[in-house]
Amino acid sequence: MDDCLFCKIIKGEIPSAKVYEDEEILAFKDINPMAPVHILIIPKNHIDGADKLNAENSAVVGKIFAAAAKLAEEYHLDGGFRIVTNVGENGGQTVRHLHFHLLGGTKLNTVLC
Ligand code: 5GP
Ligand code: ZN
Repeated sequence: MDDCLFCKIIKGEIPSAKVYEDEEILAFKDINPMAPVHILIIPKNHIDGADKLNAENSAVVGKIFAAAAKLAEEYHLDGGFRIVTNVGENGGQTVRHLHFHLLGGTKLNTVLC
């Protein structure tokens, strides 16, 4: 996806503070952190959002959650953390490339919507 911001980050065309990378996944710090630890975890293969997941492309989500657990350990989020994915306009998704927010490092408020 040529005009996708996160695809440009994956290609290195836009710099990012990477914290984890493998063949399928990239994790980097959110540019506008909403918590002391705010990391975005994305598949390298472009998927628009969680609404476009299917039997063929969704295995990467398990890998993303496994990476999130590893990062949570690395960042000492022992007291807990949150994983969020916004979907579409009503869900507040501003970047249309599937991403999971890993948030922690403080007691997060419990408001879900
Ligand atoms: P969304 O609102 O789609 O759930 O989340 C998009 C996230 O991407 C936001 O938290 C926003 O701060 C982050 N973001 C937007 N542009 C950039 C960027 O160029 N670099 C990084 N590291 N994060 C970005
Ligand atoms: Zn993309």
